[in-house]
Amino acid sequence: MDTLISVDVASAPEKQDVLHNRWHPDIPMVSWVKPGDQFRVECVDWTGGQIKDDNNAIDIKIVDLSKVHYLSGPIGVEGAEPGDLLVVDILDVGVLAASQWGFTGIFAKENGGGFLTEHYPDARKACWGFSGIYANSRHIPGVEFAGIMHPGLIGCLPSKELLATWNKREKALFDTDPERVPPLCALPSSPTAHMGRMKADAAKSAAAEGARTVPPREHGGNCDIKNLSRGSSVYFPVYVKGGGLSMGDIHFSQGDGEITFCGAIEMAGYLDIRVNIIKEGMAKYGIKNPIFKPSPLEPRYSSYLIFEGISVDEAGKQHYLDVHVAYRQACLNAIEYMKKFGYTGAQAYAILGTAPVEGRISGIVDIPNACATLALPTEIFNFDLRPSAFGPKPSVPSGIDLAVVT
Ligand code: ZN
Repeated sequence: MDTLISVDVASAPEKQDVLHNRWHPDIPMVSWVKPGDQFRVECVDWTGGQIKDDNNAIDIKIVDLSKVHYLSGPIGVEGAEPGDLLVVDILDVGVLAASQWGFTGIFAKENGGGFLTEHYPDARKACWGFSGIYANSRHIPGVEFAGIMHPGLIGCLPSKELLATWNKREKALFDTDPERVPPLCALPSSPTAHMGRMKADAAKSAAAEGARTVPPREHGGNCDIKNLSRGSSVYFPVYVKGGGLSMGDIHFSQGDGEITFCGAIEMAGYLDIRVNIIKEGMAKYGIKNPIFKPSPLEPRYSSYLIFEGISVDEAGKQHYLDVHVAYRQACLNAIEYMKKFGYTGAQAYAILGTAPVEGRISGIVDIPNACATLALPTEIFNFDLRPSAFGPKPSVPSGIDLAVVT
């Protein structure tokens, strides 16, 4: 496999012109390929090396989220035109030889937060080692699981019109509660924008309107779907000539929802990609957002414990068919259960963000309660996590926990 884009994990990401951290139609392609080509794309981790493999969560606490995500690309595909579908086969995903570890962060509430930030407002970090296909952490004993490696973020450049639409609707949301912590959304921010190979003057004005990479949007982007794993095929809408495919935020593994926000096992890595085009595929198939075929290869777990949650919040307040509230209850229920076996809340939270847990919207019509479920594979634990008449047996050594700020 020829390497089309290589990165240097030891040098500053803003000095590497094959990377960019905003979406803008004028970011120049770093390379052109033809339909049918296959090639390797290396990626730095999503923070561009801000997080270290150590036992202090200070880097998580002060991480500069205005810099993320550092993406490799954009890659132009000859013949791709607006309205086409870009077919991206994710042939393989792997770890870079120069960076064989990963991390999970619980972000501080005042710096990004996470799905359960009201319950876990402080910065915490877990570092992970890789044993072939398996992940294990010195901060979370008793658990090891097969990775489901995937790019958290991949998509094509937006057109000028689409970018304007994003900026308009997100600003309108932001303005409904501009003081909120964490903020309702991430608006354009030029000081730390990295516009790839754009020339200085053009880059400056483009940076002021370049969309942040935080949310998933019509083009895909930061979808954080664990099943976009090696062996899957994705069909992306094309909005600019050549498509402009960019990718990054590689995860060794992730649970549905990536609930701690920096919730997956984040790593630098590579993606082996093959591209093709379906001419005028957006109209032919009625595509607005990407669709994909999952991989024939996935971790095979058959034994699960499934936690239910309904749309009644922690204070007992009734919400109407709110799956956000319901999934939060399912997660909190799973954490309370895991604590009975000796895990700290932070450890259990990190396991739900990283292990291949399955999240589902199970019921969405039975007024007033939505029902969400979270399926935890029990085979990832080196002890029996199932309920029995004997009660839970403490199985996790005490005194070990996620790294705190020191
Ligand atoms: Zn990520």
